[in-house]
Amino acid sequence: MDRRKFLGVTGAGALGLTTGCASAGTGRAEARDLAPAVIPNRSPEVLVIGAGVFGMFAAHYLRDMGVDAMVVDQHGPANLRATSGAETRGVRSSYASREHHPIWMRWAVQSIEAWKEWDARYTRDRAPLFVTTGNILLREEMSPYLERCAEQWDALGTEYEWLDPDEVKYRFPMLDNSRYPLALWEPGAGVVRARAAVQSAAEQFRRNGGHFVTAKVTPDNVQGGRLTGVTTDSGEVLTADTYVFACGPWLPKVLPEVMGNRLRARTMGYVVYFGTPPGDHRFQWPNCPSFGAPGGTGWPAVPPDYVGFRARSGGASSPDPDTSSRHVPLESVERQREWVAGLFPALADQPVLGTRACHYESSIDGNFIIDVHPGWENAWIVGGGSAEAFKQGPTLGSYIANRIIGRDIDPEATEGFRLNEEEFEQRDPPGEPDGPDPLDPYHP
Ligand SMILES: Cc1cc2nc3c(=O)[nH]c(=O)nc-3n(C[C@H](O)[C@H](O)[C@H](O)COP(=O)(O)OP(=O)(O)OC[C@H]3O[C@@H](n4cnc5c(N)ncnc54)[C@H](O)[C@@H]3O)c2cc1C
Repeated sequence: MDRRKFLGVTGAGALGLTTGCASAGTGRAEARDLAPAVIPNRSPEVLVIGAGVFGMFAAHYLRDMGVDAMVVDQHGPANLRATSGAETRGVRSSYASREHHPIWMRWAVQSIEAWKEWDARYTRDRAPLFVTTGNILLREEMSPYLERCAEQWDALGTEYEWLDPDEVKYRFPMLDNSRYPLALWEPGAGVVRARAAVQSAAEQFRRNGGHFVTAKVTPDNVQGGRLTGVTTDSGEVLTADTYVFACGPWLPKVLPEVMGNRLRARTMGYVVYFGTPPGDHRFQWPNCPSFGAPGGTGWPAVPPDYVGFRARSGGASSPDPDTSSRHVPLESVERQREWVAGLFPALADQPVLGTRACHYESSIDGNFIIDVHPGWENAWIVGGGSAEAFKQGPTLGSYIANRIIGRDIDPEATEGFRLNEEEFEQRDPPGEPDGPDPLDPYHP
């Protein structure tokens, strides 16, 4: 790492101004009657707030580059409230619906390789995080979206195939494609075990000497256009030279002035895991593909635990990720069952093995946000995954870490993922509460 450059960019030249992780600075502990957070008595160069996929992978790569980084999260890496705290996430590159789709698709293709490299490097003695399933996009007719996907894959040299209906039936006999004459096949796509992946990044971060704090923090110490500390709910002030806000759907709560009207976090997504018939391998990896059809996305049961056949749809509206119920209503489960059964008739009567509900964190334009806070020169905002960031974990983390130390390794992404100046009014999604997410026009 070019440390001199890093110090210049982050303002860490002002190291002498930081005071370390002072404890009980505000007297809040008594007022709120909370146990104090356990904090190493040190002031890191970079404090990452949020241990989801954005924060944890950024922290890992920062540490890997020799940066003294610390992570604070109110619950822990990929906790069950976090959007990254899911069993599995899909990893495909068919993103021609996004405004900056050339970057999205390039990054997703790169990420597929990065997940495999991660497994080769860090999980060799355990079950891999990434499994290749391929992804089949089923549609009634040709669309500019499908054409753009193919064009972009041609430009990237990514393998894909148009499959005619008979070929789909031949390759995937468990799939009823009778309503969808068009099929676009991406053989390299797959599924990553999401919670395990974030925890793997956390493990590497720890092994490299990275520190964690479990606390909820508020950025309330500002001086001269710089953030000078964040305060935990039990009253300690954490200081650092540079702060990275990676708070997922909490960003509007944590940074209300900047993110209050720049991130939609009220819509929830519902994931349902259906059982697969015992002893029937048709709906398990590697026999069944990941799929996307009008109404949702899904994938087969994957090793090592074959947790179930996964389907997702948009969910209800809830304003606050701290208090929202993570219960998926029965009507939504049954709606998903109907949708799954339309594509995979043999699953119609399978039991529900589990459900997950989490908040989407959609930016105004559906692009990621990776930018410096407009009012605090030493604070970064990273997030706005817009329903699709998980797959980009290692690529995002490495890019963000490089930006923080002053290296712009992808100027196209830097331009594309700026904080949008436009604001919108927070509102509940119109239309049906638990159909496909009506506020997410980016999801094909
Ligand atoms: C239903 C659903 C399905 C999805 N499917 C896919 C998919 O198939 N493929 C894909 O690539 N993506 C998918 N996504 C999107 C992807 O999961 C998200 O974009 C990504 O996980 C967001 O990560 P994050 O790090 O921004 O946020 P999070 O994972 O939510 O992490 C934010 C962290 O910040 C912490 N935090 C918040 N406030 C504070 C505070 N004040 N103090 C301390 N800590 C704080 C939280 O505890 C949390 O751990 C899906 C999303 C949903 C909702």
